Amino acid sequence: MSAAGTAADYDVVIVGAGLIGAAMALLLRDSGLRLALIDSQPVQAGQPLVNDPISGSASATPEFDARVSAITPASRELFESIGVWQTMVQWRASPYTHMHVRETDGTGSIDFCAADIHASALGHIVENRICVAAMHQKLQTQPMLDCVMPARVDAVSNDQSVVQLTLDSGRQLTTRLLIAADGAQSPVRAMTGFTTREWDYEHEAIVCSVRTEQKHGQCARQIFMDDGVLAFLPLAAPDDEAGHWCSIVWSVLPLRAQALMGLPDEAFCQTLSYASEHWLGQIQQTSTRISFPLTQRHAVDYVQGRTVLVGDAAHSIHPLAGQGANLGLADVAVLARELIKGKAAGRDPADPLVLARYQRLRKPHNLSMMLMMEGFKRLYADQPLAVRWLRNTGMKAVNQWPMLKHQLIREAMGSGIKIS
Ligand SMILES: Cc1cc2nc3c(=O)[nH]c(=O)nc-3n(C[C@H](O)[C@H](O)[C@H](O)COP(=O)(O)OP(=O)(O)OC[C@H]3O[C@@H](n4cnc5c(N)ncnc54)[C@H](O)[C@@H]3O)c2cc1C
Repeated sequence: MSAAGTAADYDVVIVGAGLIGAAMALLLRDSGLRLALIDSQPVQAGQPLVNDPISGSASATPEFDARVSAITPASRELFESIGVWQTMVQWRASPYTHMHVRETDGTGSIDFCAADIHASALGHIVENRICVAAMHQKLQTQPMLDCVMPARVDAVSNDQSVVQLTLDSGRQLTTRLLIAADGAQSPVRAMTGFTTREWDYEHEAIVCSVRTEQKHGQCARQIFMDDGVLAFLPLAAPDDEAGHWCSIVWSVLPLRAQALMGLPDEAFCQTLSYASEHWLGQIQQTSTRISFPLTQRHAVDYVQGRTVLVGDAAHSIHPLAGQGANLGLADVAVLARELIKGKAAGRDPADPLVLARYQRLRKPHNLSMMLMMEGFKRLYADQPLAVRWLRNTGMKAVNQWPMLKHQLIREAMGSGIKIS
């Protein structure tokens, strides 16, 4: 099985071909490294169905993936550099030019506008399945890459010179570097003994797509409530439906989440219309709702011997800021750059210097984003009147301070993760 003259079958094996693992593989495709990409799911070839009727609805309306990401301009540049952005836009992506953040029953609000910083958009809302399918399509034409899919990694063992993986078929393969991009629950992370720190948010997120009476006007909206946070992210829908669909992320206490999940669609739409203070008029239709507990998790180290963590395997973060995918893309941009530099210098891909540099560049940034999310949660948890007053006053002050606001917009747009 081993390639002639080498101790391992591959230089780099990536486990997980989701949004982050697929991007990692494409970033390394011209590196000269022998690559394999493994996922327990089959390759998602071709354009995903984007016009399925929502189950149970009478009319044919678009069906959206419940997982969407607010792709920043920095992440878009990464997708452009690996040649998949045009496909994503052609299939379905929704630019947003405005952001409105406000507090329920308070007077504080902040507005961000792309024109203020002379940009055409603040970012794009893209469904995960669109991103993944566009990348899988590209992956199939890469000669230096073996796509081993579907195949589940069941065991991992290490020695000084290689990592050995055992697949569910019984096949074994070896690699000099193992990159775990296998998601928040990361079986590879567990099998290789990494430790993590976890914060339970004591919240659950309800995610679905909804049809709104009024058009979203390419604006991403977020409302902070005493018992949670509600986000409306504008989606691109075809023809008559254009402008009328949003993806929502509604994060609330578990008991409230259970109650909301148990409501019939019509009652859920009414409750959501009320909670959103009829921002976009009545909520007229909802897709199937899914809910999941919100846990923030961060690996204590991203590197252990010949194994390295990226994306949700290294850090999973509150969807409040829509940053999960962007942080993971920044991880793979930095790791790819370091591996390519290392290869040019003739280093082992698992050289501790190469991997330590990746960890040093990414961990503080990811940690600060997680701390910020925790701070938001605490700031907006039910608070005494004086704290609410301060919050509202602070929001208004930021809104009236253009320089600070522009700096915040640039940060949110992900400046500084370019790979070249
Ligand atoms: C419901 C939901 C809504 C979200 N909304 C947002 C949002 O609005 N904005 C945002 O930025 N982020 C959001 N996120 C987070 C975002 O989706 C993730 O940050 C991002 O997709 C992480 O991608 P990943 O590739 O690291 O992991 P994943 O997408 O989880 O991919 C992991 C891959 O590993 C494979 N795998 C797992 N175990 C094995 C194994 N043993 N062997 C082989 N393969 C394996 C899986 O099949 C999968 O394909 C949301 C997440 C969820 C769950």
